[in-house]
Amino acid sequence: MSKSYIPKALRTLVAAQGQYRCGYCLTQERVVGVAMEVEHLIPEILGGPTEEANLWLACSLCNNHKADRVAGIDPLTGEAVSLFDPRRQVWQEHFAWEDGGTIILGRTPQGRATVTTLSLNRVALVRARRLWVSVGWHSPNDTQ
Ligand SMILES: [Zn+2]
Repeated sequence: MSKSYIPKALRTLVAAQGQYRCGYCLTQERVVGVAMEVEHLIPEILGGPTEEANLWLACSLCNNHKADRVAGIDPLTGEAVSLFDPRRQVWQEHFAWEDGGTIILGRTPQGRATVTTLSLNRVALVRARRLWVSVGWHSPNDTQ
């Protein structure tokens, strides 16, 4: 959750870097019609600075689920692992689309922990993805 003021130029830079979509669930701003939020990868409460290297885009729901977390539990092993870092890591290495592009599968401990912690397969979001896929607005091949 961002509490510090983020200058407009920095917000615009991060939005362009993130291709105007959530770094976690890949929901596109232009599809939902709601601006993505600029989130602190390392939360401010844990000392994360408000600077480019620590900022990325997230939808409000992923941002709310992430809150002040930097780690989650891998449901396969029960181990605590760091969450996926959309600025430094490649989405396809940690996640895959299933069910025609409607379900996000975690491929690594970090991916699985992030799917669970951020609830990347929220029921309403999966329903929306089905609609987006049906009209060609969402594709598992359009991922970075
Ligand atoms: Zn999201």
